[in-house]
Amino acid sequence: MTLKKSSVVLLFLIPAFAFAQRLPEGVLPQHYELSFNPDLDKATFSGEETIQVQLARPIAAITLNSAELEFQQAEVSQGEKTQTAQPSFAPDKEQATLSVPDPLQAGPATIHIKFTGILNDKLRGFYLAKTKLRNYAVTQFESTDARRAFPAFDEPAFKATFDISIIVNQGDTAISNGKIVSDTPGPSDGKHTLKFSQTAKMSTYLVAMAVGDFACNEGSADNIPIRVCGTPDKKPLGTAALRYAEEILQFYNKYYGIPYPFGKLDIVGAPDFEAGAMENTGAIFYRESDLFIDDKHSSVSNHEEVFEILAHEMAHQWFGDLVTMKWWDNIWLNEGFATWMELKPSQALHPEWNATLEAVGATNQALQVDALRNTHPIRARAETPEEINEMFDSISYEKGAGVLRMVESYVGPEVFRRGVNNYLRKFQYNNATAEDFWSSIAAASGRPVDMIMPTFVDHAGEPLISVKASCAAPAPEPKVRSRRRRRQLAPAQPKTEITLTQDRFWLDPSGAPATTKNWMVPVCVKAGSAKPFCQIVGQKETVLPVAGGCSPWIFVNASAMGYYRTRYDADTLQKLTAVANTDLSAAERLSLLNDQAALVTSGQESVASYLNLISALNQDEERAIVESYIPALEMIHDHLLTDASKPAFIAWVRSTFSPMLANFGWTPSAGETDDRHEVRGQLIKILGEIGEDPEVIRHSVELAEAYAKDSSSLDPTLVRTVLSVAAMSNDGRLFEQYLAAMNDPQSSPEQLGDYSRALARFSDPKLAQQWLEKIVAPETRNQDAAGYLRRVLDNQAVQKMAWEWTKQHWPEVQAKLTMSSGSAVVHGTEGFCDAAMRNDVQQFFGDHKVASSERALGQSLELINSCIHFRTQQQPNLAAWLEQHSTTANVGTR
Ligand SMILES: [Zn+2]
Repeated sequence: MTLKKSSVVLLFLIPAFAFAQRLPEGVLPQHYELSFNPDLDKATFSGEETIQVQLARPIAAITLNSAELEFQQAEVSQGEKTQTAQPSFAPDKEQATLSVPDPLQAGPATIHIKFTGILNDKLRGFYLAKTKLRNYAVTQFESTDARRAFPAFDEPAFKATFDISIIVNQGDTAISNGKIVSDTPGPSDGKHTLKFSQTAKMSTYLVAMAVGDFACNEGSADNIPIRVCGTPDKKPLGTAALRYAEEILQFYNKYYGIPYPFGKLDIVGAPDFEAGAMENTGAIFYRESDLFIDDKHSSVSNHEEVFEILAHEMAHQWFGDLVTMKWWDNIWLNEGFATWMELKPSQALHPEWNATLEAVGATNQALQVDALRNTHPIRARAETPEEINEMFDSISYEKGAGVLRMVESYVGPEVFRRGVNNYLRKFQYNNATAEDFWSSIAAASGRPVDMIMPTFVDHAGEPLISVKASCAAPAPEPKVRSRRRRRQLAPAQPKTEITLTQDRFWLDPSGAPATTKNWMVPVCVKAGSAKPFCQIVGQKETVLPVAGGCSPWIFVNASAMGYYRTRYDADTLQKLTAVANTDLSAAERLSLLNDQAALVTSGQESVASYLNLISALNQDEERAIVESYIPALEMIHDHLLTDASKPAFIAWVRSTFSPMLANFGWTPSAGETDDRHEVRGQLIKILGEIGEDPEVIRHSVELAEAYAKDSSSLDPTLVRTVLSVAAMSNDGRLFEQYLAAMNDPQSSPEQLGDYSRALARFSDPKLAQQWLEKIVAPETRNQDAAGYLRRVLDNQAVQKMAWEWTKQHWPEVQAKLTMSSGSAVVHGTEGFCDAAMRNDVQQFFGDHKVASSERALGQSLELINSCIHFRTQQQPNLAAWLEQHSTTANVGTR
């Protein structure tokens, strides 16, 4: 067959190209001794290193990774003999090869290199971070940038121990993976040298250094010292994070059954930082806005976010740092796990935050991406730094976590934990693969986890389980002929049968390739009063009987832990909609809503079915449910409305949600739950931004102005929403106020986040343009620029103008991009809904390549296409639905 032939060719082609950038085998690093002397004014550093290696066989040259470094001296010693090595560089592979005149024997050898490098402004490797007052030096090595700080065997499987010392200016300090074990004056005037304790055996991408006048809040948990550090002005904002870190460490010590293994934990907010945070062993580095909050006056969601990001990075100390994936293709073993784990401490210690519902929302995010043609399997080829970088996406994080949650819920949390513990103990201070993990869970549970997981980890995409339910009396026994005898039998009990069919779910099913592989899906069913049950669905079609007569309703994906979409036949959906309010848990209602929204976007259901569901869940005050309405209603608002349908739609929105806001009021009452604070904000957002309610916008402007004068005048949880909704007014004075707050050195990281979001919501083109100019101005930090721009592109009211502006000012935009932030700009175009703009996006990014964003571009083009279909298909459905519902809708119109 043709298919087989081509796959044979691929088998031969891929490995040759794929391994081109890997280091040759045969040299195993054991220990690094590193000393650094950074010059913060000149933005350079010098370094010296000694690496102890084991040679597997005689060789004449050693190859390691090195990028943007200059070597002043290189030697290799064996026994008593030291040879000067001749370095040759392969910049395209980021490698250096040290050749020696006399071949080296198998056995131990020592490499000694003196080198210099630059503290770059690209937020990777050893880089320069700046505040208005001074310079700092910080590292960010994951995935492949340790080689920019020191010549290294920079692959995750080359684990070694590290002795690090750093020369710093008087008055400054440094933070690294180990504790400071000595602090001595010199080597020159005005300097002192800090030496750190030897690290555990670990991968190079986890080495960390930060140099500057950091100030720390100090605490401890289970005898492990914990510090939260930052520039001195941030110290008062570190107390919440410290308290949370103490709680989380204790929780993990119990959960993992392996006490925190790295002696101390520093958590450091860096003035410039690309990612949210990085799990360096014993020294977690952070973007300031994700770490520093005002403990007393910060929103509920900010507290949750700080807690969860900490829980994520701290989970990595075990998943990732202690046990590391063998290669980057299995990055989900780090990221999927930390993402799954991050909700556990929250569930246990802060049940008021409802992390279980957050999990359902997070899985939904992954399902949205995984429905695209431009998705990838969780475990996928990643060889070059650029490909590796692209793996850090919602598939590795959220899909990985979603699949783990499904399997955990199937085998039971305690059994799953046992499997996890066995896996960690077996591979600690070492590396592992996906197979190592699922074998461990299969052994602990006695269930076929090693059959289930590969279908989710190695197949791209997600299952769509279609459900047909029927209830009938069983067919009469064929051989019984006598009427008389039949009458004498007990009347046959009718029973429900459900037929489950699996396919791949596509956002755009037209012309999609036929599904050739089945997933092994643990499906859990809830039906009327019958006991919920789970069953592995591994065939294309599976028929399941449900015990106990005719079920009044059926719900597939009981407890909402599945990684799949569900589609019901019309009758079953109608019955389910009728009981959703009373018989489904909040998590189940949320998953039903999310699936229905996805089916509408893909054109498999009418938008009417989603709006009916919202109507049926009328007054549902569950925070995650109300939150889930926002993107769906925004999509309708932005893309389906015509001049004719708009008044009826916004009238329906107002009549549906105004009574809820009236019930909540604008001011929190004493002792209110955290969730009520959040729901109030969501209702204001829905009514202001989607319902375009002039009264809600006017009141938001009042509150925003009062907040500018006195920040304690507004519930911290409402600040973000109120500032954004107020921007709908396009009030020039308010705009100036927001800009002034962005320039105010007294603004906290949280306030900068709130104001920058709100600035993206002005739809007056003049104001929007003024904000765009500010985004590329020198005072906007490189770490923030791409994210700010993405939000403006996301604002449907100005996106055409913003896109034209972006193209015209591309050199300025590009100068602001860091290693991976360019993909945020590409993602910014995914909300476009116009064929001409799609062609333009494709052409522009074809001509102006952005690093690590090939997949992002593919996804963006696909989403634009899908939006165009969505509009064509659902516009008439919406108009018809609104016509039917307009009488009731108009009642609530102001
Ligand atoms: Zn992570």
